[in-house]
Amino acid sequence: MALIQEVLEIVRKRNPNEPEFLQAVTEVLESIRPVIDRNKKVRDARILERLVEPERMIQFRVPWIDDKGRIQVNRGFRVQMNSALGPYKGGLRFHPTVYAGIIKFLAFEQVFKNSLTGLPMGGGKGGSDFDPKGKSDREVMRFCQSFMTELFRHIGPNTDVPAGDIGVGGREIGYLFGQYKRLANEFTGVLTGKGLSWGGSLIRPEATGYGAVYFAQEMLKTRNETIEGKICTVSGAGNAAQYTVEKLIQCDAKPVSMSDSSGFIYDKNGITEEKLAFVMSIKNVRRGRISEYAKKFRGSKYVAGQRPWGIKCDCAFPCATENEITAEDAKKLLDNGCYLVSEAANMPSVPAAVDLFLEKKILFGPGKAANAGGVATSGLEMSQNSMRLPWPREEVDSRLRQIMSRIFKNSWDTAEEYGQPGNLVVGANIAGFVKVADAMLDQGVV
Ligand code: NDP
Repeated sequence: MALIQEVLEIVRKRNPNEPEFLQAVTEVLESIRPVIDRNKKVRDARILERLVEPERMIQFRVPWIDDKGRIQVNRGFRVQMNSALGPYKGGLRFHPTVYAGIIKFLAFEQVFKNSLTGLPMGGGKGGSDFDPKGKSDREVMRFCQSFMTELFRHIGPNTDVPAGDIGVGGREIGYLFGQYKRLANEFTGVLTGKGLSWGGSLIRPEATGYGAVYFAQEMLKTRNETIEGKICTVSGAGNAAQYTVEKLIQCDAKPVSMSDSSGFIYDKNGITEEKLAFVMSIKNVRRGRISEYAKKFRGSKYVAGQRPWGIKCDCAFPCATENEITAEDAKKLLDNGCYLVSEAANMPSVPAAVDLFLEKKILFGPGKAANAGGVATSGLEMSQNSMRLPWPREEVDSRLRQIMSRIFKNSWDTAEEYGQPGNLVVGANIAGFVKVADAMLDQGVV
């Protein structure tokens, strides 16, 4: 349809050299084609043209002083993409690869993901090209304080509520929150992923990984199967990966791999709770490399410079970063009998890999549905902060389970309604889009 091509052309021209943003927009726009075809009101209101343009985008200098007394300068970003459904919500990423195109793709995905959760949240994302790796705690603190000194004027509990993402975990959220509180003179739920004793929610650290496994369980139910006994490959060794592995162990599945940007470990005997505790201490406390795992546990091996997609498995859980499953990786997974992919990372499969998964009709849970548990639980943290009342672990976990199950059902039913049964990419994109588009129609030209 001409309109979609026209809009993609505008995006290409207005955002040159931002391939990730174009990739995310192309996937969504192409899959919502049937809605656009059916809906003149959406076309006349130029919803697509407005959706692809951030409501606001902030870029700022982040100067800080390292342990040697030298001045360092990084670049900070916050993209406030769409507030039709609520305050902007989405994480902050600290990684050397961060630039406008990465933050815009993540913010764009976030709009539809947040819509799918059913909670009142708009979409945003932010971050910096700062690399926390190899930095001391004091350096990370000084960086976070400088970053927040600019960001604080653009956010607030009813305006924009950031959270963590790659390179931003509990430590960073603590420093960011401390500086916000100092500048705003207000103790308020302006960030999620906070420490438990100062406004955080139980299950928030676990939520992305647990949610991706709950989503996989929903997909398996359609084939009258459970995750028990399934051999699962997992990439990454950070927040999303650790809690994906933890939930897989709890469900009696067999996770056999984890990775970081240097390589992956393969443990044919399965990663156990004890082994996972070791990974958590390497990654969260000592901030070391996953290769240490293979030195510690017999029967496991470390493969440098590669990803784990050549390992024979039933299910794959990409939990590291975007475009980490290439078409070649997808072929290897399929040839080895993998028939479920649940994306805990954002956009981890390249478009050609997604096409292969859909063509072979495996159970494929796209990131914006399968990893929505993280932001959904952030939404629950916001509710608890507003009420000033923390919920017990069981309550948050049960709400998370319900939300994942609703997201699955909504995406599954929508795919069927639009004549593409089983295609959760189409289902999630359309279901997420329709709610945002309706809200934008109600709110006029803003
Ligand atoms: P972490 O920083 O905790 O962990 C990231 C992991 O991925 C690390 O093991 C890291 O290895 C690896 N990694 C990062 N970049 C690359 C790269 N370019 N190539 C290979 N490996 C890489 O981040 P999270 O676990 O929070 O995030 C992982 C993914 O999950 C991201 O796509 C994120 O957007 C997504 N996500 C996270 C949510 C959350 O709540 N945290 C919510 C929804 C999605 P190394 O240590 O070597 O850098």
